Amino acid sequence: MTTLTRGRHSIREPIPEIFQASELLSQAADAHLQGNFAEAETLLIHANMPAVYEWAWVDWQKPSLNIRIPRPENDTKKLPKDQLDPTRAPKAATKRNVLARDGYRCRYCGIPVIDADIRKLLHSLYPVAVPWVSSVPEKQHAAFSCFWLQYDHVVPHSHGGRSDEDNVVISCALCNFGKLDYTVRQLDIADPRTRSPQPVEWDGLERLRGAPSASSRS
Ligand SMILES: [Zn+2]
Repeated sequence: MTTLTRGRHSIREPIPEIFQASELLSQAADAHLQGNFAEAETLLIHANMPAVYEWAWVDWQKPSLNIRIPRPENDTKKLPKDQLDPTRAPKAATKRNVLARDGYRCRYCGIPVIDADIRKLLHSLYPVAVPWVSSVPEKQHAAFSCFWLQYDHVVPHSHGGRSDEDNVVISCALCNFGKLDYTVRQLDIADPRTRSPQPVEWDGLERLRGAPSASSRS
């Protein structure tokens, strides 16, 4: 099989507001850890940017819009269920290794990502500033929704892609949900595995784990 070296890396190019929002979230985390809860709350509200929501959610609600090549030559195809990896969700050890390799950054588009645990923590601490209604993107904090850490199968699971470290990468919500079970060839994006992970300082706000709980804040 030939190596893909296509020009674009992701369905959409990240916009500057994404990085502004991540900076605000980082400042909010620091403010919270310093006990400046009102400041943290204000920063969290500022990070809830409509432009970030538009970027992450609007276009791919019709996934077919993302398809550039419906049936590429020599592409993988959907397989019968009995030929698929019985483990669809990567195992905990696989997730740990993928995260250690890729860091808190989407391997496709390069934007920062945040584990759902951290979002749940901040939602419990700041329910007004960090709104979250499952399965209703417009009722979710735009940045936490956009930065939602995913474990993406590069070769779709439905095409026989394994749930192992060779086939799973860290991705953001758009690059995972927008990709669905289309292939990188269909989407005309480069295979992220052809580029080494680029370490960044962003820690996914993991420094908040173990932060003061909602009860101790009041
Ligand atoms: Zn992405």
